[in-house]
Amino acid sequence: MSALRVAIVGAGPAGAYAAEHLLRAGNEIEIELIDRLPTPWGLVRAGVSPDHQDTKAVTRNFEEIVASPQITLRLGVEVGRDVSHEELLAHHHAVLYTVGAPGGRRLGVDGEDLPGSFTATDFVGWYNGHPDHQDLPVDLGTERAVIVGNGNVAFDVARMLTLPADVLAATDISDTALAALRESRVREVVVLARRGPAQAAFTSPELLALMALPGVDVTVEPASALDEEVATPRAGDARGYGRSVSLGLLRELAAREPSGAERRIVLRFLGSPVALHGEDRVTAITIGRNELETGMDGRTVVRPTGDEEQLETGLVLKAIGYHGRAVPGVPFDEAAGVIPNDGGRVTETDGAQVPGVYVSGWIKRGPSGVIGTNKHCAGDTVEALLADHAAGHLAAPTGDGAAFAALLGERVATVVDLDGWQALDAHERAGGAAQGRPRVKVTDVEQMLAVVSGG
Ligand code: NAP
Repeated sequence: MSALRVAIVGAGPAGAYAAEHLLRAGNEIEIELIDRLPTPWGLVRAGVSPDHQDTKAVTRNFEEIVASPQITLRLGVEVGRDVSHEELLAHHHAVLYTVGAPGGRRLGVDGEDLPGSFTATDFVGWYNGHPDHQDLPVDLGTERAVIVGNGNVAFDVARMLTLPADVLAATDISDTALAALRESRVREVVVLARRGPAQAAFTSPELLALMALPGVDVTVEPASALDEEVATPRAGDARGYGRSVSLGLLRELAAREPSGAERRIVLRFLGSPVALHGEDRVTAITIGRNELETGMDGRTVVRPTGDEEQLETGLVLKAIGYHGRAVPGVPFDEAAGVIPNDGGRVTETDGAQVPGVYVSGWIKRGPSGVIGTNKHCAGDTVEALLADHAAGHLAAPTGDGAAFAALLGERVATVVDLDGWQALDAHERAGGAAQGRPRVKVTDVEQMLAVVSGG
């Protein structure tokens, strides 16, 4: 019997873990790990905060996984542009999409698209050297930044805006962002949550990290939010993720006297953005005050009190969650931002299974959970894929690996393989070593390909 051929599209954590699970199933499996960028590791490279190098160390496991002779790395190949979904399926028994959720959600308020208002997704990509976000017109010449949402992404961004430049300079932050942050005039970062402390989306370790920032006062406003009676903890959310944050820590913060430090982070609760204002760029945000009530489903929801307040700000960052993007030729649920699926088996919107097509990671279950969550998620999907193969439900491909390589050769000038990625990785690390940093990222696709080609 010929080997089971699987294409995994998306070389982030979900893709790497899916490959690992497939490898465990035996050596009669060939895997092609595809990504549209010339670099692998998805959000570990371009999402995890530069000051969290310990978290980024998970890429060492990923490097070991892709070193398997059963895996062919094909980076710089975009499905839907260079090769169609149908062509991919014609060359593999199964295609497993692990493309994540690359877009930021929208608020739907007036002024949202003014210059100076960005999604945190774009902003994080900017400071993390993602080639798509290097031209983001970030202007840090404002005293106050407002971050909407209080999940862990909001906290990542709050730290990046307040960490001393010398600390950032020892990380793999992009050089563009480092230069801008060195000149930053931001002195106050407001992290705006529509609900109360008991429903906070950030986790306690991230709050502790914020509290430990050098030269930064962290305050809680309004302190009365900690007395709210309607306080169903977040762990009880219908979405079933997240832990309720330690209210004790927040009380400790609320009781602290500000030290008069140069920078300040304000954890602001019970406030929703109503509108952004400005002529040519954002100059202010209107915040509507909320009170809590328990909804029909037991979830704590907000009710506007009608009170509003305006805050001056030149930078608004929307950290209200990520949103998936459709892959041409593959079903997509636009409202949820995911590929519809039943336990990882892709379905049409009417629930009928699409043979040979699978999903894992954020494009399967939505943008929640930590890196390790993707390991279990990929395990479930791979189990379904292998069961379908064993049951004879996967059509044999009409083209083999050589035919697929030939097809890509006609369409893509430089397909980056494992050697190519290792050359780029070594180049970045060498640049970093010279500056006492983990790496200096190449942030432009053409320059990446030049390094790969030995230029
Ligand atoms: P998140 O945890 O889902 O937080 C989203 C935040 O946006 C919540 O505060 C939410 O409020 C708010 N929000 C949503 N819609 C809004 C609206 N229309 N108006 C105002 N606020 C709105 O998402 P995330 O921060 O993007 O993180 C994604 C996942 O990655 C999470 O599981 C997170 O823990 C994980 N992550 C982990 C780390 C880490 O471990 N260090 C770092 C980064 C990310 P409600 O709660 O009221 O909906």
